[in-house]
Formats: sequence, structure tokens, C-alpha cells
Amino acid sequence: MKQGKVFVISGPSGVGKGTVCRLLMEKYPFLAGTTVSVTTRSPRPGEVDGVHYYFRSEEAFDEMVKQGLFLETVDKFTYRYGTLFSEVERILAEGKNVILEIEMKGGKNVKARIPEAVLIFILPPSLEALTERIVGRGSETEEEIRRRQSEVEEEFDQADGYEYFVVNDVLEDAVEKVKSIILAEGMKDSLASVKKNYFGRN
Ligand code: ADP
Ligand code: 5GP
Repeated sequence: MKQGKVFVISGPSGVGKGTVCRLLMEKYPFLAGTTVSVTTRSPRPGEVDGVHYYFRSEEAFDEMVKQGLFLETVDKFTYRYGTLFSEVERILAEGKNVILEIEMKGGKNVKARIPEAVLIFILPPSLEALTERIVGRGSETEEEIRRRQSEVEEEFDQADGYEYFVVNDVLEDAVEKVKSIILAEGMKDSLASVKKNYFGRN
């Protein structure tokens, strides 16, 4: 069986990455799985340890870095975030594609280590719609909202190297677009490997 691929999904805070990924998993549970990252930030209301993140102290995070457990880590908003190798391997072992919902620096670090990884950037229909979504989510303080807003343009600047740009306007459409990318990428191959499959030689 062909092994799954790694897909990085990034985009400005509040654009709907989490929502798109959740619905994709719900509708197509056999297509892909999302990893659970480690973070040093505190859980928001409703967030559960081991489900949304592994919430860990700075010290525990440092220890995990020392042990070489991370595919990539990043420092953002004074917090630390990291993708565990074990999470990626768990999903590949289930025969699924892997979705990493991480920010752009991390995405590019993943691409440097796994060149076949595919980088997808989720766009809002407009900057106004983005602000409305962040405010509507109601999970950040006003100060946090302002800080995240001031970083939006910078976030776009950081998306060089991203290969697919998906506008999250109608949610269901965005989910279908991401699904199409995953399916199309799964059909990419070389003639040599196809021939090997059929004839046992290149
Ligand atoms: P992110 O993970 O990118 O930070 P979220 O998934 O938390 O963003 O979404 C931010 C807010 O926008 C949530 O309240 C969510 O319900 C809403 N949202 C997501 N996608 C859409 C969409 N296509 N249309 C309208 N609202 C959306
Ligand atoms: P939040 O605090 O809103 O959950 O996440 C803040 C940002 O960190 C988001 O852009 C999210 O995608 C990103 N993020 C979450 N986990 C990871 C991770 O493991 N690695 C990297 N590089 N970014 C992450």
C-alpha cells in the first residue's frame, strides 16, 4: 500500500483552519488524521489535554526537545508549540494522510525535512471577514485580538513557499477543495515506481 503524505495547513489566526480540518475528518475519516501538538500555553475553555493539544510546562517542553521528540518546534506569542514525530507516525501507521495544522515557520521547517510534504495556505474571503471570525469566536481577549490582527500582513509575508491557496468562504466548499488537493497529491507518482508495482522492475 502507498504510504500517506504529510499536508501542512496554515493561515492567519481565525481564518477557520481548525474548523475546516475538523469537518474534513468528520466527513472523510479514512482520508487523513490530524496530529495533536504540544504547547506551553494554557488551555482555552473547552480545550482538553491530549485532544486539542498536549498542554505542558516550559520545563517539560525543553526536556522533550532534548530527547529529540519533535519534527519541528516554534516560539509564537511567547508560547512554544511543537509537532511530535510519534504523532505523525501514528497516523501514517493507520494508512492515512497526515494533516499538520501549524503556522508558517513550522510548515517551512517540515518541508525542509520532508520535501514531499505539501503546504496549503487557508485564506479568508476578506480581511474584514477575518476580523469578524476572530471576534465571533470569543476566545481571545481584546489585547490578544489586536496583537493577532497586527500580525496578519506579516503572516501573509511568511507564506512564501506555500503551494496551494484555499479561500475559506463557504465552509463545505473549502473542505472539498482541501480534499481535492489531498486526492490529487495522492495520485502523483513516477513512472519508475508505477512500473515497479506492475512488473517488479523500473
Ligand atoms: P483558526 O483555527 O484558523 O484559528 P477557527 O477554526 O477557530 O480558526 O475559526 C474561527 C472562527 O471562524 C470560528 O468561530 C469558526 O466557527 C468561524 N468559521 C470558520 N470557517 C468559517 C466559514 N467558512 N464561514 C464563517 N465562519 C467560519
Ligand atoms: P493557538 O494558540 O491559536 O491554538 O495556535 C497558535 C498558532 O500556532 C496557530 O497558527 C497554530 O496553527 C500554530 N500551531 C499549533 N501547533 C503547532 C505546532 O505544533 N507547530 C507549529 N509550528 N505551529 C503550531
